[in-house]
Amino acid sequence: MSDAAPVDTIAAIATAAGAAGVGVVRISGPAVPAIARKLLGRAPLPRHAHFLAWRDRAGELIDRGLLLHFPAPASYTGEHVLELQGHGSPVLLDALLQRVCELGARLARPGEFTERAFLNGKLDLAQAEAVADLIAARSQVAARAALQSMEGVFSRRVQHLLDALIALRVHIEAAIDFPEEEIDFLADPAIAQQMHALCDEHARLLQEAERGVRLSDGLRVAIIGRPNAGKSSLLNALAGRDRAIVTPIAGTTRDVLRESVQLDGVTLELADTAGLRDTDDEVEREGVRRAQQELAQADVALLVTEQAHRLEDQTLLSSLPPEVNRLVVINKIDRDGRPPVDPTKDDTTLWLSARNGEGLDALRMRLRELAAAGAGEGAFSARRRHVLALRRVGEHLDQAAAVLAATRAGELAAEELRQAQHALGEITGAYTSDDLLGAIFGSFCIGK
Ligand code: GDP
Repeated sequence: MSDAAPVDTIAAIATAAGAAGVGVVRISGPAVPAIARKLLGRAPLPRHAHFLAWRDRAGELIDRGLLLHFPAPASYTGEHVLELQGHGSPVLLDALLQRVCELGARLARPGEFTERAFLNGKLDLAQAEAVADLIAARSQVAARAALQSMEGVFSRRVQHLLDALIALRVHIEAAIDFPEEEIDFLADPAIAQQMHALCDEHARLLQEAERGVRLSDGLRVAIIGRPNAGKSSLLNALAGRDRAIVTPIAGTTRDVLRESVQLDGVTLELADTAGLRDTDDEVEREGVRRAQQELAQADVALLVTEQAHRLEDQTLLSSLPPEVNRLVVINKIDRDGRPPVDPTKDDTTLWLSARNGEGLDALRMRLRELAAAGAGEGAFSARRRHVLALRRVGEHLDQAAAVLAATRAGELAAEELRQAQHALGEITGAYTSDDLLGAIFGSFCIGK
């Protein structure tokens, strides 16, 4: 990878746009020592805060601030890095950035510092993605999980699985090289055991990665039910309390309304879908199709119904895949009342009134529990990309196990393991395409 290492020097304002107490310009690349010397008038000490005045080309004072030099390779990017901390005025920081560019740097693209850190082996790809997820985290739970991934918790798990996979592959390939012994060798129970252990470890990691996506992106709740059950009212009631920090998500269709709600340190992504029922109407059919699509991606299906339609409506939940959590909300208790003792006695049925808010706290608590489930120590963040790669790994592992059990065909099993290894390597960036890197780092903010 070092062949492709960039040799120019990049610079960007690393702090958020707008006025602030302090602003930082960050520079990385081979020209950093020369730029630092020109700014300071002498060579800077490594990792030492120098207080100085920086001036424009004509010698006019731009600002006074701190200069910090992190010599390669002990820096964020692995290159020579310079940080200039001045007053957080966009005008002054722009002038400073311009000065730095005159001295030999160019403007950095979004995520280019982190991309260099990745290319220089400072971080793997999953860790680099966690940097962006940490910056973008909207809840404490999401931030904590992203921090774990940035620290390498997820990557180490992937690496451990990869090591086990390679060990088995080597084992099997060794057998292929001695065809007269292959059958006996592959029949060795130790191979089957190794294969079994690998599949188990993979299943655990996939489950934790799925949880990692939920911790990072928030719990996706699809609100379903017949028209007029009170779905929109419930969405508003859930969102209303935190109105100030609710962010409506742009680009929604007219059939699916989305709200993002922060609830005690967790994020809920609520989607209010069109009424789910068989219909002849073209537009409504499209709405129903989208509702079903929404359900297919949801962590929780929240059915809103009324006492009178309850049993009939519950059939809407019957076709859901088992991993989707179900909650049944029996709405309008202000009008219809509620039984003194709930005959169902299960914690997935909640009685409430979206109109007057009665019973809403119990629903909030239940949703919060689901959103934070498994968010304990060591829980790491993950992206959908990782989960998809892990699912492909699973398919190849299953194939390898099946081939070994049925035919003991070493070549076929080894090929499946090779493909599993490749899919796993995509997570940490051992195998990547420029397109993938472009997509990942292009979504970063400038200066990171
Ligand atoms: P949706 O079609 O499922 O989104 O239902 P809406 O939220 O638009 O509500 C349909 C009707 O039911 C509206 O007239 C609401 O005012 C009413 N409604 C919603 N929730 C309640 C409730 O808790 N109690 C009562 N009495 N009416 C409600």
